[in-house]
Amino acid sequence: MAQWIDGAALAKQIEAEVAAEVQKVQAAGVNPGLAVVLVGEHPASQVYTRGKVKTCQSLGMYSERIEMPESATTDEVLFAVDSLNQRSDIHGILVQVPLPPQVVARDVLQAILPDKDVDGFHPVNVGRLAAGNAVLKPCTPAGIMEIFKRHRIPVRGQRAVVIGRSDIVGKPVSLLLLHEDATVTICHSKTRELPSVAREADILIAAIGRPALVDDTYVKDGAVVIDVGVNRLESLDKIRELFGEGSQRLADHARKGYTLVGDVHPRVHEKASYMTPVPGGVGPLTVAMLMANTVRAAAAQARISVFA
Ligand code: NAD
Repeated sequence: MAQWIDGAALAKQIEAEVAAEVQKVQAAGVNPGLAVVLVGEHPASQVYTRGKVKTCQSLGMYSERIEMPESATTDEVLFAVDSLNQRSDIHGILVQVPLPPQVVARDVLQAILPDKDVDGFHPVNVGRLAAGNAVLKPCTPAGIMEIFKRHRIPVRGQRAVVIGRSDIVGKPVSLLLLHEDATVTICHSKTRELPSVAREADILIAAIGRPALVDDTYVKDGAVVIDVGVNRLESLDKIRELFGEGSQRLADHARKGYTLVGDVHPRVHEKASYMTPVPGGVGPLTVAMLMANTVRAAAAQARISVFA
């Protein structure tokens, strides 16, 4: 039976550390500032961006949300990013994805100054990550590494299998694991015999976006299982099948019309040694690492040392 990893508790711990670093940077005369750009009215993005601004403010940093209409053009978004690049009170810029289809996401992400790129998606930061000397690491992968560190879960020499090869999660977390001396296998939708490859993992990371795809046939006894997926599950039959009759999930569904589930089947809990829940696992850590990146970006721009 796995031990659940409480992502919210770890995030609180990290945020308290960030708040202390914020004070140090402020004492040196700099108030870290984060700008969050939201284009359009994507409901989940509205919730995420509000949460990021609020958390930033609660840690004593400055934060603002720039809202742009769904019809915004690439040039208009580039103009907004450029003005933020030039502001000395803004140290971190985050453009919430997904962007509306007419906006060329790659151009926008490349327009952010690498030193202000708190998501770590700019090619310069991707290069630094690959080389093992990143300052601003992508937030979700960095949050996953904090789980291992803070739970003293060994990574060196371990077999890690990452399912998913996205630029946001799969690829960067694979690099971070590699830099910590894990032996890493990256799997994806074309991987053959995925369950048997996954079963080799001491550390299994699922970043797929398919509800409960990773069942117990994918998991070796005692593996550490990190569930990155966040999927809206609307089918009552599927919810009953996964969580059973009488589960809180049914009440959740009655309230919202869906429940959030990960990529990992609940049955895996019986086999794993550690497992992250969804919600409340990796998600809160992503926000905490964004906060850490904002103070890091501000400190680096002012040549102050933090998290020493
Ligand atoms: P993505 O769609 O960009 O990538 C999904 C990856 O999964 C692809 O590489 C694809 O090859 C692979 N894949 C798809 N179907 C597969 C299958 N049947 N078997 C094996 N591999 C398969 O997604 P992403 O942006 O990496 O996000 C993945 C999931 O993580 C999503 O549910 C997303 O909502 C969630 N996510 C959560 C957080 C967080 O903070 N908790 C952050 C980012 C993403």
